[in-house]
Amino acid sequence: MTSFADFIFYAYANLQMLIMALNTGREKFDRTCYMLRAKAFKAYKSGKWNIHNLYVNNVWKIKSGDYCWYCRKQIPKEKLTIEHIFPRSKEGTDDMDNIVLVCQNCNSSKRDLDLLEWFFTIKNCWPAPYVFAYYLKHVYLYAVKNDLLDKTSEEIDSLNLPFKYKYIPLYYPDTYVKHYSHANNCEASSDNIAAYT
Ligand SMILES: [Zn+2]
Repeated sequence: MTSFADFIFYAYANLQMLIMALNTGREKFDRTCYMLRAKAFKAYKSGKWNIHNLYVNNVWKIKSGDYCWYCRKQIPKEKLTIEHIFPRSKEGTDDMDNIVLVCQNCNSSKRDLDLLEWFFTIKNCWPAPYVFAYYLKHVYLYAVKNDLLDKTSEEIDSLNLPFKYKYIPLYYPDTYVKHYSHANNCEASSDNIAAYT
């Protein structure tokens, strides 16, 4: 039986592998990537590496331009709307860590769905890597704050939480890696990459 901590650390190690692949212009994962993932998982599990807070991600989020944080459509700032990543109806707060600016379409379509559930089942697409990074940290920080890390998946399933961890990918398809390894710099710039660690 694995703990929720193991799940999150493995998901985060996978994300690190993705970022490394994108950072080095790889179009798919290779042995070096898998070795990094194994190293990262071990390091997070043993406490040698830590998942940081969302400070850097938030600075980047504030600095980034006039576009929807979810679909990346360019929108004049005054038309962007405040969106809660963890829905307010599920105890999502008004904290900086839970707020993003998105277009009206995304906002009304997502409603109180889990962010990744919405991407995968309603929008039918994978979000940009920075969305995964942000969401994963957000879930991790919530889990720390609410003593969820030692719980088993069964226990997590029985709780009413503001996220659905089952939508967190433990694998990124080659097509996704390839797409973002060629993405323009607003999607995967070095600035953006810096915000992952
Ligand atoms: Zn949008």
